[in-house]
Amino acid sequence: MLERALHQTRLEMVTSQLAARGIQDARVLEAMGTIPRECFVSPELESLAYWDGPLVIGHGQTISQPFMVAAMAASLVLQGDEVVLEVGAGSGYGAAVLSRLARQVVAVERIPELLEAARARWSALGLDNITGVLGDGTLGVPEWAPFDGICVTAAAPRIPPSLLMQLCPDQGRMIIPLGARAVQQLCLVRRVQAGEVQIIPQFACRFVPLLGEEGWDEVHGPET
Ligand code: SAM
Repeated sequence: MLERALHQTRLEMVTSQLAARGIQDARVLEAMGTIPRECFVSPELESLAYWDGPLVIGHGQTISQPFMVAAMAASLVLQGDEVVLEVGAGSGYGAAVLSRLARQVVAVERIPELLEAARARWSALGLDNITGVLGDGTLGVPEWAPFDGICVTAAAPRIPPSLLMQLCPDQGRMIIPLGARAVQQLCLVRRVQAGEVQIIPQFACRFVPLLGEEGWDEVHGPET
């Protein structure tokens, strides 16, 4: 599809899928209207890049629905000077959007081939404030902590303690899908006082599982 047509479809997506459904943060709308989602899917899916749902990216994983990416980014209330951790870099699209909203993005992914492809896309687009890390994101990235925002793009049975410890107290915000393997609640998590955790459910969602030491077991996770 022509670049111009995709640009037009992207702007329509921002209006009809995001603004019309209550995404009000102008910076988030701007970022979603700027980052070319078609660059984050395989060429045969390019014409579907702005459809209202997730798309396969290989290795049994998905690039999330545009609304979900925008809602998660908006929930972090970023001003531009933050260090943000994304757990589950996948295609690299979510990190690309976050890179327009924060000073530095650290994006961790457990599947080497996905991270390699994501890095190539960030580089091709000149997004030089994203650091890709290969590893188990349930353990966070201690060398970059603490984080002003943490965006977990895979479903967890509970809040990984390591992520909580790496979230800035008071102002820090974590957005994470919590619940069973089949369906979850997207939750906003904050460390409001020493030792106290505030969890605010947002809406029901369905993500691929967060696999790792403080997430689901690769083969049999406990159903909660
Ligand atoms: N944010 C991604 C994007 O924009 O394409 C979508 C991510 S996809 C819904 C979830 C990703 O989380 C998958 O790529 C999966 O491999 C990754 N993942 C699952 N468990 C992980 C873990 N413990 N550490 C890092 N990545 C993990």
